[in-house]
Amino acid sequence: MENKTILVTRSSMPPLDEFVKEIGLLWETHWLTNMGDKHLQLERDLVDYLDTDNIALFVNGHSALECVQEAMDLHGKVITTPFTFASTTHSIVRVGLTPVMADIREDDYTLDPEAVEALIDEDTCAIMPVHVYGNLCDTEAFADIAARHGLKLIYDAAHAFGVRKDGVSSANFGDASMFSFHATKVYNTVEGGAICFRDARLKPLLDQWKNFGITGTESVEYVGGNAKMNELCAAMGICNLRHVDEEIAKRKVVAEHYWERFDGVSGVTTCKPQPDITPNYAYMPVVFDPERFGATRDDVYAALMAVDIHPRKYFFPLVSDYECYEGLFDASATPVAQRVASQVLTLPMYADLPIEDIDAICDIVLGCRR
Ligand SMILES: *Cc1c(COP(=O)(O)O)cnc(C)c1O
Repeated sequence: MENKTILVTRSSMPPLDEFVKEIGLLWETHWLTNMGDKHLQLERDLVDYLDTDNIALFVNGHSALECVQEAMDLHGKVITTPFTFASTTHSIVRVGLTPVMADIREDDYTLDPEAVEALIDEDTCAIMPVHVYGNLCDTEAFADIAARHGLKLIYDAAHAFGVRKDGVSSANFGDASMFSFHATKVYNTVEGGAICFRDARLKPLLDQWKNFGITGTESVEYVGGNAKMNELCAAMGICNLRHVDEEIAKRKVVAEHYWERFDGVSGVTTCKPQPDITPNYAYMPVVFDPERFGATRDDVYAALMAVDIHPRKYFFPLVSDYECYEGLFDASATPVAQRVASQVLTLPMYADLPIEDIDAICDIVLGCRR
């Protein structure tokens, strides 16, 4: 095979002329940020697409996550998962809260509600589960636990844009859900993010927190940050939203080809979408059991990298193993997360990935078996 670089993802972009047309008016108004027309329109478009009542846009998903915790005025411990991206835990720590790690489930790698409930104490103020790879958490169980213990429930829904469970949008679970519109996600605004939330009273708070805590022309009531989405990013979002269903349909073809190639292979687990969800095919995670497959995740990673194919060990290392959290967590207390992190590889996945490339990738992966 001739070596051609294949990266783990490739950002979705609208036709150039469509974007140029979308931003044309900005050259007349000279209004580039601070909740302009594009920002307002994207909020309306997303409320519609995500079927949610309340939304606030942000410069990125991470800032959105920090902001919602500040706006909710939380204090104490937040129970979350170590099997996630740095952002989830960092957001908790950076707003002065204490993360507590619970284990994940064997089947879909989302936070285990029973493990969460066992860790709740009088200092717990919130639960932050992650919809890993676009599969949804056990939202009923978490709603029940949060209600019984009087806790806030904030989902990291960065992977779950457009996903529905029994027809209900992923934006409508818990008190709030954070979406990331980073360039590598299923839907992007270059950089961007949003919080969708249940209580409409949060809207002015979130909008003020993302704008220095300014509450009026002559009043500043909070020590807020600067996390506003600008008009060029909002315009990109408006355009990309017109094509996102097409992009997801193309991802489905890619995903189904991968699954066909891996079905029935001993020691290979693909994390297929749950039966009750409308998936977005955000990632292509494959878990390798070295005993049964005959090669480790790291063997497969090295074989692909050797021919310029770039999968990702996502999520590895566990957040609880990060240098910056040394001594704070015990990764062996979350054994399922520890095992999955050591065995998972996410393979290249994007709408325009050609079938021949998928076959080339699968041939190399399957050729690793001893
Ligand atoms: C991408 C991502 C984030 C952060 O979103 P940004 O928009 O990049 O700030 C948070 N959590 C998870 C699980 C993510 O994948």
